[in-house]
Amino acid sequence: MRISANFDGGNIDVINVQAPNNIELAICPDEGGEFFQWFNFKLDGTIGMQYQLHIVNADKASYPQGWENYQAVASYDREHWFRLPTRYHDGRLSIEVELECDSIQIAYFAPYSYERHQDLLAQFQVHPMVSVEHLGLTLDERDLSLVKIGDADESKASVWITARQHPGETMAEWLVEGLISQLLDGDNPVSRALLAKANFYIVPNMNPDGGVRGHLRTNAAGVNLNREWQSPSLEKSPEVFHVVNKMQQTGVDLFYDVHGDEDLPYVFLAGCEGVPRFDDAMNTLQQTFENALLLASPDFQTQFGYDEDAPGQANLTVASNWVADRFGCLSYTLEMPFKDNDDLAEPIQAWSPERSILLGEASLVAMNAVLNKR
Ligand SMILES: [Zn+2]
Repeated sequence: MRISANFDGGNIDVINVQAPNNIELAICPDEGGEFFQWFNFKLDGTIGMQYQLHIVNADKASYPQGWENYQAVASYDREHWFRLPTRYHDGRLSIEVELECDSIQIAYFAPYSYERHQDLLAQFQVHPMVSVEHLGLTLDERDLSLVKIGDADESKASVWITARQHPGETMAEWLVEGLISQLLDGDNPVSRALLAKANFYIVPNMNPDGGVRGHLRTNAAGVNLNREWQSPSLEKSPEVFHVVNKMQQTGVDLFYDVHGDEDLPYVFLAGCEGVPRFDDAMNTLQQTFENALLLASPDFQTQFGYDEDAPGQANLTVASNWVADRFGCLSYTLEMPFKDNDDLAEPIQAWSPERSILLGEASLVAMNAVLNKR
């Protein structure tokens, strides 16, 4: 029996692996030590044997309430991800598994590896409407890549989509994969209508360093990128610095910043009611977008979510607020669950890559509803 996490996006510290019914593990904190919750490791053992794994520092994680009713994610083939019986008690997250193969991968959510990210860029760049642009380097000297879908017509609207500012929120890149794939489907009338009136600027992975390092929330310098948008710097947050520069060149007419929420078992949007520039026109657009998304995906709902910011009280260091105020456009943070959507629970997989992909497709319907024809 052995545990390993020495791979792309891996994260676990092995404390005690002597007894199969009492394997003690701990999650390694992100750089800087402030955040942790992401885990991702492989267990090799004996087929048919029962294993009990305990993450002993679960109560010190960034969002301990995220463990309530949470089930760990696992896969034998790294394609199909399912849930394992999991219990949070006495400050420990306990996971049970009976091995069906020699090895199982267990993670906080279905990983989206840096290699798969490279595959995504390569797979889509062969489409004639796609160009992949190098925006700059991260602190670990990885590429920060922009997928542009459209043409040279600058009179079109600019739709910006960013994912994985928080690298452990891998569902965000699964969503983007589904959204791009559908947008490039020449038979899809929603996609054709959208591309007639907008160019898309998509950053599928805002934080590749954090992803490879197995971080939950920060980049290589331990910085939370979603608090850097008012004053990004090449020293602390080059990822945001480069994206903001590019946004200033293209302008932004619609922004969709994609995330996962550790706690709430729902899909929800956080709007920009609290930014100084919020007005009746933006409010009407928000209603239109949300009504369209409600019809396009029963996984989306508007009952549960974050409290709305009071007028003028939004935190402008947050991406969606900064963009709304700078460009006066509709701007959202989209949150998907690590757990499940309790309105439409699915017991085997719970929230999954597949459902994230479908939500990405549905998001195009809502975008089409708010973008004016040329
Ligand atoms: Zn997030």
